[in-house]
Amino acid sequence: MNATRTRRQIIGSALGLAGVAAAARFGAVMAVGADPSDIQSTASALEPAVRIWPPGRLMFPVQLPADLILLDNFGAQRLFGSGPHQGIDIGRSDALPGQPLVACLDGILEAQTVMGTNEGNSWVILDAAGDRYRYHHLESFAPGLIVGSVVTRGQVIGTMGSTGNPSSPHLHFEVRRGPSRTPVDPVPFLGLPIPGITVI
Ligand SMILES: [Zn+2]
Repeated sequence: MNATRTRRQIIGSALGLAGVAAAARFGAVMAVGADPSDIQSTASALEPAVRIWPPGRLMFPVQLPADLILLDNFGAQRLFGSGPHQGIDIGRSDALPGQPLVACLDGILEAQTVMGTNEGNSWVILDAAGDRYRYHHLESFAPGLIVGSVVTRGQVIGTMGSTGNPSSPHLHFEVRRGPSRTPVDPVPFLGLPIPGITVI
């Protein structure tokens, strides 16, 4: 039983034809949600989407305008026993790599992976409050940025791609709170709705 796919179908039904079409366009990315794509697996530590921050606190991590689908799949169960999905996926099955990705807030680039097995090329931004923001599957890193670089809200840090385990270009985006790095659902803090971003 693929619980994630079932959830997508339910959501698609709720949204009507537009939602189904959007779900279909994101179909290939759904397969990624079934993979163990996290740098660290703390699968049992999901935190409910408590409004710990005001809505819109985070800048949308993909540069706008964009015509993309946000898969509201935080906590979705994945196949292969890899535990719940610890972030959200933003992309489209027919998206081309190269959409700029931006820092969702001020911070430093704390960690980087280059062609990691699952996450591919990735950045981790650490902010002044001690929270972390993970960007996976980048096509490329912005020139000049290294671990320790200071980044500002809205600064381009790389481009969307499909490095690591995805089947199509998308951004896997995570928010992790504090020293425990507890995953938090980013969706309430992204300033949605955003024109061009379809949430399914
Ligand atoms: Zn993902």
